Amino acid sequence: MDAILPSDKRPLIIAGPCSAETREQTLETCSALAATGMVDMIRAGIWKPRTQPGSFEGQGARGLAWLAEVRRRTGLPVAVEVATPKHVHTALRHGMDALWIGGRTTVSPFAVQDIADALSGNRAIPVIIKNPVNPDIALWAGAVERFLNAGIPQDNIVLIHRGFSYFGENRYRNSPMWHLAFDMRSRFPEFRMLCDPSHISGDRRYIREVAQTAADLCYDGLMVESHCCPDRALTDAAQQLTPNDLAATLRSINWRRGNNENPEFLHSLEAYRREIDTIDSELVKLLARRMEIADRIGGEKLRHDVAILQNGRWNTIVKRALVEARRLGLSPEFVRTILEAIHVESINRQNTIMNK
Ligand code: PEP
Ligand code: MN
Repeated sequence: MDAILPSDKRPLIIAGPCSAETREQTLETCSALAATGMVDMIRAGIWKPRTQPGSFEGQGARGLAWLAEVRRRTGLPVAVEVATPKHVHTALRHGMDALWIGGRTTVSPFAVQDIADALSGNRAIPVIIKNPVNPDIALWAGAVERFLNAGIPQDNIVLIHRGFSYFGENRYRNSPMWHLAFDMRSRFPEFRMLCDPSHISGDRRYIREVAQTAADLCYDGLMVESHCCPDRALTDAAQQLTPNDLAATLRSINWRRGNNENPEFLHSLEAYRREIDTIDSELVKLLARRMEIADRIGGEKLRHDVAILQNGRWNTIVKRALVEARRLGLSPEFVRTILEAIHVESINRQNTIMNK
């Protein structure tokens, strides 16, 4: 991998159009990206998995010739999305340097296995694996294992966090659910993880803030979309940046270092961490006490043949806690999420007691 995606470079930047649409658009965009000097690899979609049939589904193999030309002109390695063994063979025949597995493919173990088989024993090609569109880390982890089993070396597998589909209101097109990406990183601590702020935000106005969050969370870099004329893009128009705007965005991101050996800093950090550890331990003990009391209530309800859930009581708990949260400067969403988790656990325990 070192030759293609250097392992000691942070941030690693993969950039390019959502789709290669025409030779001119591909060359113009990618040459401008290369000229910024900030891009390590070019990306472009050639086969586009679309939700609706009949929308632009990519240029197929002829787009690969344009990318091969980009590679010759800029000297940058090029990556495309593959979803079938045929894509893999065609992409490699046209000299693509790296392949990525899209969020709609990672959801399918059969498709992932077919691609892994097509690459079996190929140690030279980096495989970039996006998280599945649904928030299921086991599928993402399973995809990594399939490529490892096929003989792809660990340092040639790169993870991309592109956010997750969700139901409900959100600022972004795909909810980042950062905690799921942390879970993946703790399962695969040696693997590099990049953030895709384009597909998370779905809107070019939010790309910087998502990318800065990724930098603050110690990600290794970004995969980001860029188009020479975003408003005319055939796919993902709202989230693409011109190469110039992308360069300005990248320059504005602060990739803080992962650590600092300054003794004063280390000393105060250590003291704060001890305090946090004590508080966490208190929190767990308090939760245990709260559950014990919930169990006793469960016993009383069983004795008096009363249903577990009393809506009025739950509403009172939430209302009171939210007033308190506001007074203490805590966000109501945060406090509500915690209370709901506690409530679900209490109900589960009372359920067990009442149905023994
Ligand atoms: C893409 O990178 O253009 C793409 C389709 O991404 P995702 O698989 O993350 O939706
Ligand atoms: Mn896209």
